[in-house]
Amino acid sequence: MGEEIRQAEAGGADYIHVDVMDGHFVPNLTIGPLIVEAARRVTSLPLDVHLMIEDPDRLLREFIEAGASTVTVHQEVCRHLQRTLAEIRALGARAGVALCPATPVATLEHVAPDLDLLLVMTVNPGFGGQSLIPACIDKVRDARKLLSAWGCSAEIEVDGGINPSTAGLAVAAGAEVLVAGSAVFGRGSVADNLRSLREATRAVGV
Ligand code: ZN
Repeated sequence: MGEEIRQAEAGGADYIHVDVMDGHFVPNLTIGPLIVEAARRVTSLPLDVHLMIEDPDRLLREFIEAGASTVTVHQEVCRHLQRTLAEIRALGARAGVALCPATPVATLEHVAPDLDLLLVMTVNPGFGGQSLIPACIDKVRDARKLLSAWGCSAEIEVDGGINPSTAGLAVAAGAEVLVAGSAVFGRGSVADNLRSLREATRAVGV
């Protein structure tokens, strides 16, 4: 993992996105704070930690102390979302909210002042290698409009099915941060794959 992170940094990545899955909110079980700490030791890039876990409140401090720069929680599992976001900021990280494909952006209106990043899931979370759901591109467009109507400058990030054929669509719709797994760490060199993604976003003139 260290080697792949180094290749991504050398290849011009802006963030290292870390998917944390708990085997409950999503079926897979992946990594915890120890891996975030290990990633922190091998890169100076911001660590963008996406918590696909139930009850994230109990682990916020551990992930932030391990080196998370941004912590993103799912709207669907946070009963007291405003409190969770305020807690993330109070612990010193940027606060993000992720929305599954079925969750409307409008649910975030009253937490807009507490939001640094909005993660629009472009697949249902849980597995790598899925195809992007086209309706989620319209959702990115809605998110862009709503955030500006709310006077919220949160970054819009998309996650799921991003590759050189979908990256341009996401950016044209208003995404500023693209998460890519298989398209970067699959075949070929990490640097070449990152370059193809950037070229795909330039092709749409954004
Ligand atoms: Zn993710």
